[in-house]
Amino acid sequence: MKCPFCRPDMKALIYEDSLIRILIDSYPASRGHLLVVPVRHVEKWEELREDEKLALLKGVETAMKGLEEVLKPAGFNIGINLGKAAGQTVPHIHVHVIPRYENDCSFPRGGVRKAVLDIEDENLSLKERWIGNRMSEEEIEKLKELFGNV
Ligand SMILES: [Zn+2]
Repeated sequence: MKCPFCRPDMKALIYEDSLIRILIDSYPASRGHLLVVPVRHVEKWEELREDEKLALLKGVETAMKGLEEVLKPAGFNIGINLGKAAGQTVPHIHVHVIPRYENDCSFPRGGVRKAVLDIEDENLSLKERWIGNRMSEEEIEKLKELFGNV
């Protein structure tokens, strides 16, 4: 099986060390939506080693710091979809780091809780929005510079 996180598109890869990678989400729910993934192909949380769990959390922190510097979001939603029933589409664990901006949706209350409601998320429904949420080349370069290793 071809796994997009084992062989990431080089354009999406903005950080990599021996344990984790930070990738730009292809269908950004907001501008600057990043994914933190283990380098090793791990499908289930319980298959992660302790050092990988810690590296994933540190990667989330790195991603947030970089985004704060470059895009100045007003908040973040952090989430992991574990299992098909929870909406996991790529069977390689990935932590979503979704920067949030003042007034980026009408009803932000509930945050990640919205994941369990059977309604279209206004942030995820439209392809135009995904395209509109893409970062500029300049923003991506700034992030890479901050992370300093790709
Ligand atoms: Zn993989």
